[in-house]
Amino acid sequence: MSEKIKPCHCGHEGELMGMRHSGFLSLTCPKCNRTVEAFSTEGLAQSWNKPAPTPPQENDR
Ligand SMILES: [Zn+2]
Repeated sequence: MSEKIKPCHCGHEGELMGMRHSGFLSLTCPKCNRTVEAFSTEGLAQSWNKPAPTPPQENDR
């Protein structure tokens, strides 16, 4: 049932810094500092595994 944590968008496959806050959890990549937050470990994994958002590219020339 549990979602498997994928490697970070930056390619980091090692340990991630998981933190328990009051009311929610967070997961941080020590390499690129990407952080996701969620209210459950399951939600945390899902948020983490979302594909990287694609910033607007300057291909429009
Ligand atoms: Zn990363």
